This record gives sequence, structure tokens and C-alpha cells, in this order.
Amino acid sequence: MGQAFAFVATCPTCGHAQLQNAFARPDLERLLNGGYPIEAYCTDCDEFWTVSIQKRVEIVEAVAITLAPRFAASGNLTDS
Ligand SMILES: [Zn+2]
Repeated sequence: MGQAFAFVATCPTCGHAQLQNAFARPDLERLLNGGYPIEAYCTDCDEFWTVSIQKRVEIVEAVAITLAPRFAASGNLTDS
């Protein structure tokens, strides 16, 4: 099911930090690049919510960081 990308989001209902590990990285990239909302899930409340802009920025940065080594190792870079 592709590479999962996990992040932690705080549930606005119960205030607990919930690990979000249901996203595959390509799916997350698609949501981020397309400007679509990212839905986090709370196992305690059994509810979804849209993550904040601030969290979204954190995810963007985290995805970019985890992607970098893969791009470097793929041999597709031409700026060597
Ligand atoms: Zn909750």
C-alpha cells in the first residue's frame, strides 16, 4: 500500500495527540499539492477533522525532508 507517512495531530474535541498513520505519502503529496484539506482521525472520539494551516505547513516540511534522500538516491537529479 505504498509508503505510509505518519504524523501527529491534536484532536480539537478531546485535545489528545493522535498518531495519523493511514496516509500513504503519495496521497498526502496529492492533497498538499492540490490544496485539498487533510483529514485527521481521532480513535478516542471516532471523528475526523481537518488539520490546521499550521499543522499543514509542518506536514509539508516533513514530507519534503523525508522525500529528499529518495530523490538523491534515485539518480534522476541532473544538477550533480
Ligand atoms: Zn478526540
